[in-house]
Amino acid sequence: MKNTEQFKGKKILVVGLAKSGFAAGKLLHKLGANVTVNDAKPLDENESAKELQSIGINVICGAHPLSLLDEPIDFIVKNPGIPYSNPLIERAQELGITIVTEIELASILSEAELVAITGSNGKTTTTTLIVEMLKESKKNPLVAGNIGIVACEVAQIATEDNIVVTEVSSFQLMGTETFHPKVAVLLNLFDAHLDFHGTKKEYGNAKAKIFANLTDDDFYVINADDSTVVQLAQNNKGTEVPFSVSKQVEHGAYLRDHAVYFQGEKIININEIVLPGKHNLENILAAIAAAKIMGAKTSRIIDVLKTFQGVKHRLQFVTEVSGRRFYNDSKATNILATETAINAFNEPLILLAGGLDRGNEFDELIPSLKKVKGIVTFGETSEKLVAAANKAGVTKIKSVVNLEEAVPIAYDLSNEGDVILLSPACASWDQFKTFEQRGDMFIKSVHKLK
Ligand code: ADP
Repeated sequence: MKNTEQFKGKKILVVGLAKSGFAAGKLLHKLGANVTVNDAKPLDENESAKELQSIGINVICGAHPLSLLDEPIDFIVKNPGIPYSNPLIERAQELGITIVTEIELASILSEAELVAITGSNGKTTTTTLIVEMLKESKKNPLVAGNIGIVACEVAQIATEDNIVVTEVSSFQLMGTETFHPKVAVLLNLFDAHLDFHGTKKEYGNAKAKIFANLTDDDFYVINADDSTVVQLAQNNKGTEVPFSVSKQVEHGAYLRDHAVYFQGEKIININEIVLPGKHNLENILAAIAAAKIMGAKTSRIIDVLKTFQGVKHRLQFVTEVSGRRFYNDSKATNILATETAINAFNEPLILLAGGLDRGNEFDELIPSLKKVKGIVTFGETSEKLVAAANKAGVTKIKSVVNLEEAVPIAYDLSNEGDVILLSPACASWDQFKTFEQRGDMFIKSVHKLK
């Protein structure tokens, strides 16, 4: 670790535990800071808080009292999920207290160079691809964040011989001041999370913080087909390395004659790539650009693209049953992700969709539903999806209570050669704890068919 001295004796408040707050609190305590941890969950149900208390950290649980700010505080480490409208955070802002998220600490402390990936969709897939592509290169990649271990835990083990690869959300980026990747990747920007960020402009500004501290020695990989992304990346320092599925961006990653190229070098024919869908081609181009900048070998990149079947729950191929291919896209928790999944296939499709009702209609899904042969809906949004499917003229429509029931019914609606796709267009929380649990239930139900 570097810069460890700068936290010694500092008075730091960690708000919101979860994995990142827990790791940040523990690390700052180890570095000699005077840490107070605050979490909404009462202490008697809060194992993480109890553990931190047992090592001597001051713990206040059950609410976010404003009295936490009575004494001077150097800065707050805020869990990314806690909104800035939380009264404690609002008060801290009024008092001019710096508020950061845990990735800021990781960036300050890590000895390794950092590749950071953000965007509305495709972060996990691109992150995973970059890590895989960097294996066998001079520096060993470590994955941090959502799919790996918490960034500030990785920062403690990473050395100059590693490359840390991490996906970062807009919520995390909002809490950064000096966060400094070597390669910053911005994949795309859609209307997501507007409930948290208010407007698309604010959401974009949060994403653009990934570029804020780039220097002339750094790089930014951007989607040249997304005008909002291009605009947000203007006026940065660093070298631009674009990617595009529609234009031949010679100084970046692009398509030509049914093959993938990077800066004039042919990497692979598109038909040799296992991962389905145009959207994944975008993720692949972005990953190649970032991996190449960091020294990945072309032979390794080719191997990855010939074998990588997708990240679990993201258009993941499950199995084939009597000529029907099943795909699990449980991670598709919004309409856009489901549109993307539907458009990734040319085969006749039976879609399984539904879940938590956030109050929106599904009219935006109608153009994509026109491509669907059958739909089985479930969960809170079942009826709304039936209405959208009717408007789209889908011929086979069934509505059931839950996913377990939906799978055999989808099978009954299908024919040999069809794709049966779980891509719910909704969050899972009406019937499941997580989208992972929903995807696992789907996989189990599919295997039961056999
Ligand atoms: P994230 O980590 O940003 O949520 P994932 O890689 O987990 O992204 O993919 C989530 C879903 O988003 C996928 O199931 C797919 O439907 C959709 N998706 C992935 N990549 C893209 C992309 N480049 N453009 C549009 N949609 C995408």
